[in-house]
Amino acid sequence: MKKLTFESVLRKAIYKNRNAIYDLVPPEGLVGRIKERNDLVMELSPILLGSPVSSLFVYGTPGTGKTALSLQIAQELKRESKKHHISLKTVYINCSENRTAYAVLTELLHQLSNTEIPKTGWSTKKVQQELKKVLGKQHVLVVLDEVDYLLKESGDDVLYWFSRMHQDDKLSSVVISNDLRVYDYLTPRTQSSFGRVKLIFSPYTADELRAILGHRAKHAFLPNTVSKAVVGKIADIESERGGDARKALELLDACAKLALARGRKTITLDMVNAADKYLEQDILLKTLTGLTKHQKILYLTLLKNKGASYGPTIFNKYCKECTAFKVKPLSERRVRSFLIMFNELGLVHAEVGWVAHLKKKARKITLLMDDAIRNTIRKRVRDLI
Ligand code: ADP
Ligand code: MG
Repeated sequence: MKKLTFESVLRKAIYKNRNAIYDLVPPEGLVGRIKERNDLVMELSPILLGSPVSSLFVYGTPGTGKTALSLQIAQELKRESKKHHISLKTVYINCSENRTAYAVLTELLHQLSNTEIPKTGWSTKKVQQELKKVLGKQHVLVVLDEVDYLLKESGDDVLYWFSRMHQDDKLSSVVISNDLRVYDYLTPRTQSSFGRVKLIFSPYTADELRAILGHRAKHAFLPNTVSKAVVGKIADIESERGGDARKALELLDACAKLALARGRKTITLDMVNAADKYLEQDILLKTLTGLTKHQKILYLTLLKNKGASYGPTIFNKYCKECTAFKVKPLSERRVRSFLIMFNELGLVHAEVGWVAHLKKKARKITLLMDDAIRNTIRKRVRDLI
């Protein structure tokens, strides 16, 4: 292996502007998504005529451009409002960081005014009263992102409150969710008064990903670093996996890092495969690091076992593995619940069915992974235990 120095890496610079890979909203705007863009523009345009709009719901799986497009349109709307002499303030709130009604409302108040909330806190009602004083003076557009976190953890009070504030108090909102079933989390009172308009962002197709990657590559890298074939390959891989633009961009970046490490000025097709494997391992290892000791031992048991195996057999092997690590095995029931959890985390593939040689129903577990990755992961998991 060649020894790297900072200087040798930088001399082989392949970037024109590395940040361009990850700009949430590129200076030239997003690529494509014309229909979604048009829908947002149409629905939000009444604000420029002085009428607030009731909440728009934006849904779609991760990496489909919901956050980026909503923010881009909010910026455009703000610029346009100046021309129309409408006083508009846009506010972005992410609910994965603000998971309660109180957190969202105080964040809104904080962004709209410099009202100081005492350290001992206020009641939600008091925050709402303060907000009412501030709202109504100007139009406010709130982009409430990743609302699934808020709804699942603390219900829909905020959305209901928004729906009541919208007419008199000039409050408009765009509510974004990664979870397509988010509507199930709304109570009937909110459903009837909220979210009349729904926009769905579908996963990107290979063609769309090719356009997005091509555009970023042009701004981020020196000419001839990234070929059309490389862009096409990344687009094909990621469209098959769920059309996530974020993942496609991460893969492009991982390819670039690999090219740098190998001292090359162009990214080649074989680097795409290598970078993809590397990212896959990286994600897997991050998940594995978060497991408890017994869960890691169980996973190691599965790694050692090639092909499919069944619940009871796995339990026996897990017990043997525990002896090797000098720990007392947990009950079979606990181990079963871990296997269900592994399945949910995507660590294994589980199927319940009739097993002839056991003469009963059992959970069949498979771990799809090629041998090279399996061996590296095996070593790493053992180190983690
Ligand atoms: P979501 O909010 O749906 O999970 P994001 O809006 O955060 O997805 O997009 C993920 C990443 O992909 C961001 O870096 C974003 O800039 C980029 N991206 C998504 N869609 C496009 C697009 N149409 N054109 C350019 N970049 C895009
Ligand atoms: Mg998002």
